[in-house]
Amino acid sequence: MDESTESESRKLLGRLREALAEEGAGQERLDRITHLTATSMNTEVCSIYLFRDADTLELCATQGLKREAVHKTRMRLGEGLVGRAARTGRPVKSANAPQEPGFRFMPETGEEIYSSFLGVPIQRLGERLGVLVVQSKDARRYSDDEVYALEVVAMVLAEMTELGVFVGDGAALSARHKNPEMFRGTVGQEGTAIGHVFLHEPRVVITNPIADDPVRETERLREAVDTLRLSVDDMLSVAMGVDKDSRQVMETYRMFANSRGWLRRMEEDIARGLSAEAAVEKEQSDARARLRGVPDAYLRERLHDLDDLSNRLLRILTGQGNETGAAMPDDPILVARNIGPGELLEYGRALRGVVLEQGSVGSHAAVVARALAIPLVIQAERITADALNGDRILVDGDQGIVHLRPEDNVLKAFRDKLAMQTDAQERYASLRNQPAQAKCGTTIRLTMNAGLMADLPSMEGSGAEGVGLFRTELQFLIRSHIPRRGELAALYSRVLDAAKGREVIFRTLDIGSDKVLPYMKPQDEPNPALGWRAIRVGLDMPGMMRMQLQALIRAAAGRPLSVMFPFVAQFDEFRAARDFMLRELEREDKLGHVLPSSWKIGSMLETPSLAFAPRQFFEMADFISIGGNDLKQFFFAADRENERVRRRYDTLNVSFLGIIAHIIDRCAEVGTPLSFCGEDAGRPVEAMCFAAMGLRTLSMRPASIGPVKSLLRRVDLNEVKAVIDDGFASGAQSVRPAVTEWLTREGWALAR
Ligand code: PEP
Ligand code: MG
Repeated sequence: MDESTESESRKLLGRLREALAEEGAGQERLDRITHLTATSMNTEVCSIYLFRDADTLELCATQGLKREAVHKTRMRLGEGLVGRAARTGRPVKSANAPQEPGFRFMPETGEEIYSSFLGVPIQRLGERLGVLVVQSKDARRYSDDEVYALEVVAMVLAEMTELGVFVGDGAALSARHKNPEMFRGTVGQEGTAIGHVFLHEPRVVITNPIADDPVRETERLREAVDTLRLSVDDMLSVAMGVDKDSRQVMETYRMFANSRGWLRRMEEDIARGLSAEAAVEKEQSDARARLRGVPDAYLRERLHDLDDLSNRLLRILTGQGNETGAAMPDDPILVARNIGPGELLEYGRALRGVVLEQGSVGSHAAVVARALAIPLVIQAERITADALNGDRILVDGDQGIVHLRPEDNVLKAFRDKLAMQTDAQERYASLRNQPAQAKCGTTIRLTMNAGLMADLPSMEGSGAEGVGLFRTELQFLIRSHIPRRGELAALYSRVLDAAKGREVIFRTLDIGSDKVLPYMKPQDEPNPALGWRAIRVGLDMPGMMRMQLQALIRAAAGRPLSVMFPFVAQFDEFRAARDFMLRELEREDKLGHVLPSSWKIGSMLETPSLAFAPRQFFEMADFISIGGNDLKQFFFAADRENERVRRRYDTLNVSFLGIIAHIIDRCAEVGTPLSFCGEDAGRPVEAMCFAAMGLRTLSMRPASIGPVKSLLRRVDLNEVKAVIDDGFASGAQSVRPAVTEWLTREGWALAR
């Protein structure tokens, strides 16, 4: 780039700033910009297309095309060359546009006489806002410098759009962050919440995208980069003492922070007239656009690192730290691109709900949200670009839907739904001390699932009779290092204290698959759910399992202890794990530690193979718990984390109930206690069917105990069993229709 190009560009931006400073409505300002750009770039046409909705671009201003076409000409995302620039987030140029594949002829604009075309996306931090186009009659080939210059103008346009400079009539010029928006995401954790947005990472606002003293701006940028490098070095020295993986991440950060290419590109942007902040953001926007098209997970991660680094740099430059002074509202709903489990725990129960742009059902954050019973919607695309701190927001975790700045009627419907749920909760609370006794006299034991110390207080409120599943991996997932034995023993001891003599079944580490410990090298496996996980890791590398068993034994000290092994697929695995436990008991005894007063060693049954294990397995296990989440995924060969197939197969499908009945029979034959601890145990209709089929213990989220108990107390399980048997005999795929019809007849249509 030579100096004359630089000064041309600076001149254009200077004029742009003057034009933007002049009074006028949004439309006038856009008109001025098209005029200015066409003149400066020496093209016959300059047009601005903006999105009027997520899929439609609208011609909003033009110099050179017919004025009648403004606000009339529209195209879909991806349609024509303009749509292509918007979709790909990359410039599109051609010396002979009408010959280009996908070219869309728009006679109303009079454009057939224009041969050359250059369109650059107007985007802010990866969010598509529109396209800026120049065209000319001659078959001109736009140089890289010209593309670059137009991109810089587009960048300023994007910043100004964000600041609301172009607000005018019509959808395409409507003010941003004002209209109601609905986001369709994925259910992460059921429940509903009304509240106000609290952004995990408040957006940085740039009020000065254009600067006329490049020397000063370059200095500011270099100073900020120096500060950034120092802070990365600091982080690295902290990471040195920690583990190899965090160190590697920090090394990558340092590499980026010292990258000459990164700094050079930003300095070039400044030389063209951008402020230091705008230059950083332009780099960041470009990186995000690249990110969209990268299929390789490793590369995507690296681009994420770069994105994070740009964020840090922007915060240094603008002085807007993570603390922007925005007070947390009384009813905060956290909105974030993604969040780690530790960070989520820090917010804790103060949050009414959480909405993430990324994340997955099995992510650690989802696990924590579930443990804290906070409604969570994941994969709500674009929400961080649209939501502002303090916006009203409704989270429907049952449907995976989020309403941002909702209309009054939506808010009212939502309030009604919440009121109904609160009424129901009050009714359930009154049952807290009542047994889950069905009309036929059978009593079902209802216990809760837990994984964090924070879960234990729910035991009293929910009326749970114990902890049927304590997922010990959560403690490992939220730490950046392996917890020490003493730490774990103290924690497990506090869990037992909180349970006040009620049974707690500790499940040993269920890691692997989606549950990757931050300090363990991730395994590159083609099918992680079928891979090296849980008991398989425990048996192959027994160090961690033995340490955990020792911690459990020491925690119990004189109290009863129940331990359960996850993901057992065959008898020998259980036998080997049980032997470890017995050996640890012996060893602890020899070391002089007080042993538990009694112990039970049980097994999860979550692989179909174990249902057909030898009789001796059922005899040897002190108890068995059906892990329905995994059992169902393997039984139907349907990934529990894949939304496309997750709900495809009904839990009340006769084949699945068939294997449940088989397991119940096998345990009954030898008198081994059996429970069900997958999510389905917390769904009243499913729970009722399991009870009718013979399950006597169900373990679920604390919030589900009330609804399940309420239904169980109203039904005669013999009648339910007869309905299920009829359903089986009818040849139907699932007994649900028969059961639902019966519930309706009995007047319990609303039982959920
Ligand atoms: C299950 O698989 O049903 C279960 C309870 O274990 P998790 O959900 O932790 O895999
Ligand atoms: Mg499981």
